[in-house]
Amino acid sequence: KAAGRNNYAIFGEHMDELLRNRRRLENDLRSAVSTRSQLEVFYQPVFSTSGGTLCSLEALARWKHPTLGYISPDQFIPLAEEIGLIGEIGAFVLDDACKTMIALPDITIAVNSSAVELGSTDYARRVLTTLNKWRISPERLEIEMTETAATDNAGDLERTIAKLRTAGVRFAIDDFGTGYSSFSRVQKIEVDRVKIDKSFIDEMDRSDSRALVIAMIDMARAKGLKITAEGVETAEQRAALESLGCDDLQGFLLSRPLPRDAAVAFASRARLG
Ligand code: C2E
Ligand code: CA
Ligand code: CA
Ligand code: CA
Repeated sequence: KAAGRNNYAIFGEHMDELLRNRRRLENDLRSAVSTRSQLEVFYQPVFSTSGGTLCSLEALARWKHPTLGYISPDQFIPLAEEIGLIGEIGAFVLDDACKTMIALPDITIAVNSSAVELGSTDYARRVLTTLNKWRISPERLEIEMTETAATDNAGDLERTIAKLRTAGVRFAIDDFGTGYSSFSRVQKIEVDRVKIDKSFIDEMDRSDSRALVIAMIDMARAKGLKITAEGVETAEQRAALESLGCDDLQGFLLSRPLPRDAAVAFASRARLG
């Protein structure tokens, strides 16, 4: 019993600390977003398998916390969604992406959009206003959404996607294969590309995972969609994906995400070479 009470005390203390940390992180994120000084956008190059040229960059948000250092978007994006800051972060990333597109006139940029953003009624209008402000052709923007986003509140989402696609913006299903409703739902939603999730690429040396990748590629092909493989880390994976007919490859083997200046320099070199 004594031990039980003791455990409870430790657990309680631990909870207190977790809550305090969480509240501190929330406040820090609020000020990071309002001042924008700690937010950055990194860009990861994506290469086409035909010719091996750099074809696009994926914009990835970064939060450089003053004392904790870089905090992963896997941590702060869900927090931002919960406390209502995701719209501002998305707008910041899109603005930065437009500046990068101006620096690299031949390149397409992909941004990530969460279900919360895509579900908001004025999202399409805000994206088109931003593109127009920077005089960027909508065809140069691709919006990546997860399958979970694609299955959430279908009504508004479909309208948002239709409005943006009519204007020329492209859409990709991110982390393809990981959503439990996957294939059937994806059939219903109009997109241009699927990005096969890293978890499948990681295990491609196993025949069952390889079969899954082949099934995903076949399905995407049948629908006329482009296919990107993400998280490509080895030369073996690259060769296998090329021979299976993936259109584009992305991963640490080819390049890590880079700060804008480095990405611009990298892309300029990649086009020459
Ligand atoms: P994601 O969209 O699936 O992005 C790919 C993630 O995999 C990135 O992590 C990237 O750095 C990492 N990655 C790429 N190639 C490799 C590889 O070869 N090996 C390994 N181990 N990792 C690789 P990152 O930048 O930490 O982003 C994590 C997630 O946070 C993203 O996953 C995306 O869902 C979300 N995210 C990032 N930026 C934004 C944003 O601006 N808005 C929203 N809504 N979500 C964002
Ligand atoms: Ca993505
Ligand atoms: Ca992904
Ligand atoms: Ca992911």
